Amino acid sequence: MVKFLDLKNQYDRIKEEIDNAIFSVINDTAFVGGKYVANFEQAFSDYIGTKHCIGVANGTDALEIAIKSLDLPANSEIIVPANSFIASSESVSNSGYKIRFCDNNPDNYTIDVNDIPNHINENTSAIIAVHLYGHPADMKKIQEIARENNLKIIEDCAQAHGAEYYGKKVGNFGDVATFSFYPGKNLGAYGDGGCIVTNDDDIAEKCRMMANHGSKEKYKHVFEGRNSRLDAIQAAILSVKLKYLDEWNQTRINSANLYNSKIQNTHIILPIVEPYSKSVFHLYVIRTKNREKLISYLNSKHIQTGIHYPIALPNLEAYSYINQDSSKMNASLQESELVSLPMGDHLTEEMVLEVCKAINEFE
Ligand SMILES: *Cc1c(COP(=O)(O)O)cnc(C)c1O
Repeated sequence: MVKFLDLKNQYDRIKEEIDNAIFSVINDTAFVGGKYVANFEQAFSDYIGTKHCIGVANGTDALEIAIKSLDLPANSEIIVPANSFIASSESVSNSGYKIRFCDNNPDNYTIDVNDIPNHINENTSAIIAVHLYGHPADMKKIQEIARENNLKIIEDCAQAHGAEYYGKKVGNFGDVATFSFYPGKNLGAYGDGGCIVTNDDDIAEKCRMMANHGSKEKYKHVFEGRNSRLDAIQAAILSVKLKYLDEWNQTRINSANLYNSKIQNTHIILPIVEPYSKSVFHLYVIRTKNREKLISYLNSKHIQTGIHYPIALPNLEAYSYINQDSSKMNASLQESELVSLPMGDHLTEEMVLEVCKAINEFE
């Protein structure tokens, strides 16, 4: 059996450290806030290279709080890539702004920088760049467009912990950036978690207050915020796992390189990595016209697969209210062809070769 993801395998390799970390939090009764959260925030901002890191309850909250911290004009439009998880767009409407979908690049699947200008009008206030599947979006082009049009940039790094753009980690290319620590992400907690990173002192302070009922000091609420905390047990677990992140990302990259070099099948289109990028392969996504056949064939060979995402955001029922023709978008043309192969730090070379062999024999 080649599993799509295997978190038990990972836990078994670091069990003692994880168990000790959890026990310490309980033994110190440091359940909320405190040193475990502060230590992780420091370690993660050091790792990404940003001045600030604010732990929050999950990646969706991180996006919503980050967007609100920018104080964008009321009812303005935010550009969101059509190929992503719904959190990338939900956070826009839940913050009171309007979603404007932009197509994805047909080759690397991140936001199509050539399509962004088609969606800019006098109401546009920001762009959300998603480093989808672990592959960085083309941030220099996005920064250029943002500068020319006076737009803010939010990086959604939920799938890209440790990914690099021109040698610098993602999370450093916008006004504010967000991460998710959902268990299946490259850096995952044992429950929900997320964070916001930024190099801007004011944005950092606003985000921290917003996640803490609008206050810096207990009971002195400057505005209405919310409760969105990174749980201390999760923070302690994440501090242990952060030390392994580079090693685990390298295992993913090695597996991706092996898939790329060994899969040879005219029915299959392999993912590319742009020369400016270090992808951390949160997902390894191929395309094929015979998707259902390939998935059941691999299933019969005990190889698990996934689909990310089966319905592009503009085509979701949730967005039937948005008046935007998405029928000619790459996102719509490709949604029925995407297949995610097994990917994670659980994969051995033998497993990857087994998947390659099966795919090469697929007709
Ligand atoms: C996982 C994910 C999120 C949301 O993270 P949660 O922690 O599950 O709320 C946001 N954006 C993208 C692209 C994601 O993959």
